[in-house]
Amino acid sequence: MVRLIAAIFALCIFPLLLPAALNAASRHDSIQELKVHFIDVGQGDSILVEAPNGRKMLVDGGPPSAAEKVTAYLREKGIESLDLVVATHPDIDHIGGLVQVLREFNVKHLIDSGKLYTTTTYFHYLHQIQKQKIPVTIAAGEENIVIDPKLTVRVLNTQNAFKTNNQSSIALSLKYGQIDFLLMADVETNQEQKILDAKQLEAEILKVAHHGSGTSTSFDFIREVRPETAILSYSKDNAFGHPVDRVIDYLQLVGATIYSTAKTGDIVIRTDGKTYQVDISGKDRVLIKP
Ligand SMILES: [Zn+2]
Repeated sequence: MVRLIAAIFALCIFPLLLPAALNAASRHDSIQELKVHFIDVGQGDSILVEAPNGRKMLVDGGPPSAAEKVTAYLREKGIESLDLVVATHPDIDHIGGLVQVLREFNVKHLIDSGKLYTTTTYFHYLHQIQKQKIPVTIAAGEENIVIDPKLTVRVLNTQNAFKTNNQSSIALSLKYGQIDFLLMADVETNQEQKILDAKQLEAEILKVAHHGSGTSTSFDFIREVRPETAILSYSKDNAFGHPVDRVIDYLQLVGATIYSTAKTGDIVIRTDGKTYQVDISGKDRVLIKP
């Protein structure tokens, strides 16, 4: 099966750089805001990025149970096509909802970690890529993704043959003006350390790795990044104990304001590159350790 999967990818792989068309600014957007939506998908991740030039990037699609939610969310925003989809890694809580997204939306390009998997969900995902003839780039690590000349999107981590799915997650940094986001997917402390070794990282907004799991988010990492705002994406009734108290402790120690999709529902952060604001739908604003 792995050989078959590899064959499907081999047919789809495009050069590392995205097509020139994606590099060009699209329409003029007078507001010039970057909006990052952390969609409440229950236990999983799905993050919609609306670049200042209007281009749309979706990072993950949550579990299969969230497919209707994610597609409805995109339609509510008037979105019919996505300039880029990033599948951070092949776990079901990240690609499960993507299958319907790939089927129902015009996806112009997809970036995959290159990590192969043998689940039915992963096979459905590959099938849609093939059926819809979506161009695929395998993230090689340390490259820039250009969807808007004013927005710097950088790959910080991707797979190698010796890593697990979570360790292979595509982690991304987004920089717009003075505001930085880190989207850590499900990476673990080893990958965080490697990212820190490679570069100095500070970010106003951190999407905490792996739903607040104890496998991730070392104090060294949090101390270096020093987020003002931390986002946790998980389901209230998850069976994994996410998020663990230690992670909440560390975030509170550095003074981060913590939002979770389980408490607040969808979380939208909008920024003009100088300041940012957090919009939430629920009443419970902040997650505080009891
Ligand atoms: Zn996950």
